[in-house]
Amino acid sequence: MSPRLRTAVALAIILLAPSLASCGDSDEPATQTSPASSAEVQLTTAFGSMDKLPGVLRSPPPWSANREQLQARLRAIGLPALTAEGQVVHIHQHLDVFVDGEQVEIPANIGIGRVFISPLHTHEDVPSIIHVESPTETSFSLGQFFAVWGVRLDARCIGSTCIGDGRQLRMWVDGKAVSGDPTRLVLAEHQQIVLAYGTSAQMPEDVPSSYDFEAAGL
Ligand SMILES: [Zn+2]
Repeated sequence: MSPRLRTAVALAIILLAPSLASCGDSDEPATQTSPASSAEVQLTTAFGSMDKLPGVLRSPPPWSANREQLQARLRAIGLPALTAEGQVVHIHQHLDVFVDGEQVEIPANIGIGRVFISPLHTHEDVPSIIHVESPTETSFSLGQFFAVWGVRLDARCIGSTCIGDGRQLRMWVDGKAVSGDPTRLVLAEHQQIVLAYGTSAQMPEDVPSSYDFEAAGL
C-alpha cells in the first residue's frame, strides 16, 4: 500500500468510526419511530436456500458474528456495504432464538465490517436488537438478516437443526404465533421476535410479547 493510500485509508477509518457507533448514542431525531406493536405482521417472499451464500454456517449454535466473508455475502444477496449507517429507514426489532430449549446468544457486530456496515446489523450495547438502518426506503425481511449474519435459516432449518423427529419450528411476533417460513417476516418497528426450534416440551414457556426499547434508548 502506498503511503498516500495508507493515509487515505486511515482517514476513512477515522471518519467512519463515529458513525459506526450505536445509533442509541446519536442525538438525531427519531423521525421514523411509531408504535407498531399492534400492527399486522407482514410477510414477503421466502428467502430461499442460503446454502450457496459465502461463509454461511450450517452448524449447531452458538454462532459467531461470522464476518470473514461478510462483504462477499452482501454482494451475493444484493445488499449494500455502506460507509455510514443509513438514515432514511431506521427501525429496531428484538430477537430471541431458542434451539433445543437453549437460548442462543445473538452476537454483537453482525453485519459490520472493518470499513463498511450493512443496513441490517447488531451493536454491542444490546446485541439481540436488530438495527435496520437504510439510506433508501426499503423493507427488509428476517431472512435477509440471517443471510447477513450468515446463519442458514429456512422453513425447515436453523444452522444444523432441522424440523422432524418431534422437532418443530415456531415463531412468535409480539407474542402472536406466526406460521410458515420465518424468512418471510418483514421487519417492522419495535417487533419482539421469537424463533424456537425443538420439541413441544422445549418451547419457551413464557413467550416474550414485547420489549422495552425505550430503556435501550430506541
Ligand atoms: Zn439503530
